[in-house]
Amino acid sequence: MSTVVDSVVVGGGLLGSALAWMLARDGADVVLLERDQLNQHASGQNAGSLHFQLEYRMVEHGLEAARQAAEAMPLHLDAADHWARLGDELGESVGVVQNGGLMLAENAEQAAVLERKAELERSWGLDVTLLDGDEVRSIAPYLSESVVAAAFCPLEGKADTRRAGPALARGAKRLGASILTRTKVTAIERDGLLWRVETSSVDADGSSTARSFHAQTVMLAGGVWTSELGAMLDVHLSTIPLALTMSVIAKTPSFIPHLVQHAGTRLSLKQSSDGTVLVGGGWPARLATDADGRPDLSARPHLIQESVAGNALAAMRVVPRLASLPVLRTWVGTTTVTPDQLPLAGEVPGRPGVFVATGGSAFTLGPSFARILTDLAQGRSTAIEMAPYQPLRFGGLAHV
Ligand SMILES: Cc1cc2nc3c(=O)[nH]c(=O)nc-3n(C[C@H](O)[C@H](O)[C@H](O)COP(=O)(O)OP(=O)(O)OC[C@H]3O[C@@H](n4cnc5c(N)ncnc54)[C@H](O)[C@@H]3O)c2cc1C
Repeated sequence: MSTVVDSVVVGGGLLGSALAWMLARDGADVVLLERDQLNQHASGQNAGSLHFQLEYRMVEHGLEAARQAAEAMPLHLDAADHWARLGDELGESVGVVQNGGLMLAENAEQAAVLERKAELERSWGLDVTLLDGDEVRSIAPYLSESVVAAAFCPLEGKADTRRAGPALARGAKRLGASILTRTKVTAIERDGLLWRVETSSVDADGSSTARSFHAQTVMLAGGVWTSELGAMLDVHLSTIPLALTMSVIAKTPSFIPHLVQHAGTRLSLKQSSDGTVLVGGGWPARLATDADGRPDLSARPHLIQESVAGNALAAMRVVPRLASLPVLRTWVGTTTVTPDQLPLAGEVPGRPGVFVATGGSAFTLGPSFARILTDLAQGRSTAIEMAPYQPLRFGGLAHV
């Protein structure tokens, strides 16, 4: 026997939970299927940066690559607006603070990158101001004398990664969505005008139960497992898995109100509401591999010591006070980017009613992705031109 619903959401990270909430808010009958626990993977492991300026990884390969990455700016502007309203709409805080973000330069070359970057971002409508070293220290006295310039974006900030996803899932539940954890989607097939989604759930006694759902729309919110879900539909959703490193520094009275990033090295840092300082910014870990040498996305990646040290050094150089505080914990997580740095987002061509969003800063972009996919699924138009993010733009429709 199969359960018929309006929408099946695959994945219970930030995106899946936001989708379930938004679809339920529209009155849809939704079931969210999560293989593990809600918020267990990237959405609960990430740095929580709400970054709208182009990140270091987008500017490190020159202006042309930065220009391409900037095509995601309409999504970022939309996301900035969503995060600002999210707690009020949900009726529960998701720990959003938008005190502004600084991207730092420590030499003339990096300052020149900031200038080119700011010009590009302004052409897309992002509010960015360039500051010299003294100006930046006047608003951020915790920064070192080595900082010679910064780009300030007032929209940037952070959200609480431990609260945001679960709060959205609770919101979805309050509106009647069903949420099934320890329930893995094993197949997605066309069945007449609907999609049949097959699942396998792990029960309390360790046995497994198979169940199927029929739905008009299927939302793929599988993060780093997106390509695996695409394979169930015979489409190649091209994503590149990455393992990244994060550290948290011991509690100290609040002194960093901003999100801090760097134009010349991998660095993001921010102080949480509990006083700890989160340090990340894209330092790699090593993906685990299976017996055939392929990435094993379900196994914990391996920590690279040099990444932990390099990240800490970059942080201490620009915020010298951090040198006197201990690192409490370091962890690794997996996420995904795409070959052109732009997300995959929208309806999957040739698979009517199947929608996907993933790639890059998908914590920052999660609420925006969810709104756009919900609008498209409900037959509403979206103000954002979605062609640059077309999910099969790298090729990959096996057969219709
Ligand atoms: C260390 C680190 C730092 C980061 N920092 C930032 C940052 O500061 N800002 C930012 O914007 N982004 C950041 N990111 C990226 C960001 O975390 C992710 O892009 C985002 O969380 C993805 O959310 P998601 O809901 O799409 O995926 P996920 O949170 O990965 O959730 C996907 C879910 O789908 C489930 N799933 C997969 N396959 C199946 C299946 N077959 N059946 C059922 N369920 C399935 C998984 O179990 C998982 O729970 C960072 C990532 C990492 C790893």
